[in-house]
Amino acid sequence: MHLAKFPRRFIAHLPTPLERLDRLSKELGGPEIWIKRDDCTGLSTGGNKTRKLEFLMAEAELEGAEIIMTQGATQSNHARQTAAFASKLGLQCHILLEDRTGSNNPNYNNSGNVLLEHLHGATTQKYASGLDMNAEMEKVADKFRADGKKVYTIPGGGSNPTGALGYVNCAFELLAQCNDSGMKIDHIVHATGSAGTQAGLITGLKAMNAQIPLLGIGVRAPKEAQETNVYNLACATAEKLGCPGIVNREDVVANTDYVGEGYGIPTASGIEAIQMFAELESILLDPVYSAKGAAGLIDLIRKGHFSKDDRIVFLHTGGSAALFGYDSTFDHSGRWINA
Ligand SMILES: *Cc1c(COP(=O)(O)O)cnc(C)c1O
Repeated sequence: MHLAKFPRRFIAHLPTPLERLDRLSKELGGPEIWIKRDDCTGLSTGGNKTRKLEFLMAEAELEGAEIIMTQGATQSNHARQTAAFASKLGLQCHILLEDRTGSNNPNYNNSGNVLLEHLHGATTQKYASGLDMNAEMEKVADKFRADGKKVYTIPGGGSNPTGALGYVNCAFELLAQCNDSGMKIDHIVHATGSAGTQAGLITGLKAMNAQIPLLGIGVRAPKEAQETNVYNLACATAEKLGCPGIVNREDVVANTDYVGEGYGIPTASGIEAIQMFAELESILLDPVYSAKGAAGLIDLIRKGHFSKDDRIVFLHTGGSAALFGYDSTFDHSGRWINA
């Protein structure tokens, strides 16, 4: 597997640390939990989209793009990392933000990721929920194109075969860290949304014949839809890499029991996960993604899904900047108001 044959703009702080979570492991009395710190990729408070954007933005530069466009939910971490990456390359960035939660908290609408996007010089445009946002983005892009601008559009979450290469790379990086330190791992768990992270990881793991089960914890779609999205993108990614057919449908496993009311709406188990990670390990999770992923991990451990002497790696996909858009979820002592 030769990732260097694909254009890439090196910007992330890699390799991200792989750390043991002693206090959380002890608290749960179960498997040894490790964390892969993709919340520390370096770009404007970090997160998983930076790895994908290394490949996407290199492609944009090669195509001579002047304007980068993408879309996401109001508190999209992907939008924030795209805005930051574009400003680093001196490119204009325009973002479509979809109101998926109906929140009227002013901080949800203007602070957190939205504030950072504006600091990075991006322009944003708000949309009501329920539209085909990739199609809306192409409409706006066509207006820029009619004015003679070169536009590069990135799908929501940066999840296409080019973006997924970032997580093929992460699979290689993680396995190298384990191999170098003689550390055997039994499971990898992470939050899955627009599918690029899980698709890239499973493709990389299969390409290396790692034989480590990968579990995505869903944040939006039902199980069948989520697994199908991941599987289809993994197949396209394997094709791009020149190894079509290496991913089987049964390699793709998502558990969508922790979504709660819906995308972007905090859950009691997610808030508990935020508090446990913050108080036991000084690690910040976000209510939309990493907290729901961690809530799944914690609940499955409590239910005995993993064996006590397993070693589990939780991939921290980032998102802490969104906490400031969700301040009204917590009271002044940091407790969840609806608990
Ligand atoms: C986007 C995102 C995810 C999900 O990754 P996908 O590649 O979209 O599945 C998980 N966690 C955080 C913090 C994210 O921003």
